[in-house]
Amino acid sequence: MSKRDYYDILGVSKSASAEEIKKAYRKLAIKYHPDKNPDDKEAEEKFKEAAEAYDVLSNPEKKGRYDQFGHAGMGGQGFGGGGFSMDDIFSQFGDVFGDESIFGSFFGGGGGRRGGSRRTVGSNIRIKLKLTLPEMRNGVEKKVKYKRMVAAEGVKFGSCKHCGGSGVVKQVTQTFLGQMATQSACPVCGGLGQIIESKPSEANEQGLVSKEFETSLKIPGGVANGMQLSISGKGNEGPAGGASGDLIVLVEEIPHEELTRDNNNVIYNLWLSFPEATLGSSVEVPTLDGKAKIKVDAGTQPGKVLRLKGKGFPELNGYGKGDQLVVVNVYIPKKVNSEEKELLLKLQDSDHFKPDEKGKSSFFDRLKEMF
Ligand SMILES: [Zn+2]
Repeated sequence: MSKRDYYDILGVSKSASAEEIKKAYRKLAIKYHPDKNPDDKEAEEKFKEAAEAYDVLSNPEKKGRYDQFGHAGMGGQGFGGGGFSMDDIFSQFGDVFGDESIFGSFFGGGGGRRGGSRRTVGSNIRIKLKLTLPEMRNGVEKKVKYKRMVAAEGVKFGSCKHCGGSGVVKQVTQTFLGQMATQSACPVCGGLGQIIESKPSEANEQGLVSKEFETSLKIPGGVANGMQLSISGKGNEGPAGGASGDLIVLVEEIPHEELTRDNNNVIYNLWLSFPEATLGSSVEVPTLDGKAKIKVDAGTQPGKVLRLKGKGFPELNGYGKGDQLVVVNVYIPKKVNSEEKELLLKLQDSDHFKPDEKGKSSFFDRLKEMF
């Protein structure tokens, strides 16, 4: 079956501007809209045809291909086979009508269509959760208390008389395009379809009260400072039996006294005395799970980075773990007594104590060790 030319369908010329194409489509969409043509197969086909033409001509890339190759250039691209449902059309082109409220309400806001009262979802609640580095590394289960809006007891709802309980008000208006039905959320009940007839004094105008709430949060290992975890359904309840919003937990790091975090690695600054670094030593360093012994080789230079494999943070959604990086510093005494001074003066003359080119590690060597 040969297809009609897209420009013919929309009734525009090949040189039509994007605005003209949009206008032409809008006009056809209104004319053949199923709400205006119930049970009219021909109108439905025309409606779909116009949507298909608009899909191509409103997209510069598709339009270019169509201009060059005609329908042959459209093969396999979206519409190709013509399997285009009404819901697709509503969800895809809702924006065409978004800038004119009359069209927006006409289409009932995309694929959702009309009818029935809306249930309003409750708002989200944000809380902060302070965690230590070990808790962030290993994961933890925490009990948190917070205030949450919940449905008050003893609230009596009645059907909204203004909208008859449907939550929407319909209006038939005369426009230059003919008679059109529009609908919008009921201004009296805000779309709920219900209004509060009586409520206890502590309940707010939505029939909700603030209550202390406790829940247990499972924090996975690997979370970082500033991350937000969203727990669905633990936020404020919606009015009139609406679903609850989310609880959003902002992770805040409690600084560790000796260790700092760098992405998935943990950094520790190790200070050695000058003789320890020269002669080698075995030292204890703190890690996120207790002390660890490490060996420092004789002749270890300041800036050297020793790596404790797997002592860092796990990848939140993957495999592998970061490391603990132990950065070696050498403490140079600020004061010495006369005896020490004599010893040092002797050492100063020894060739071993003169920095030679081989022994010095460059700034870049150090960086390489870090990453
Ligand atoms: Zn109402």
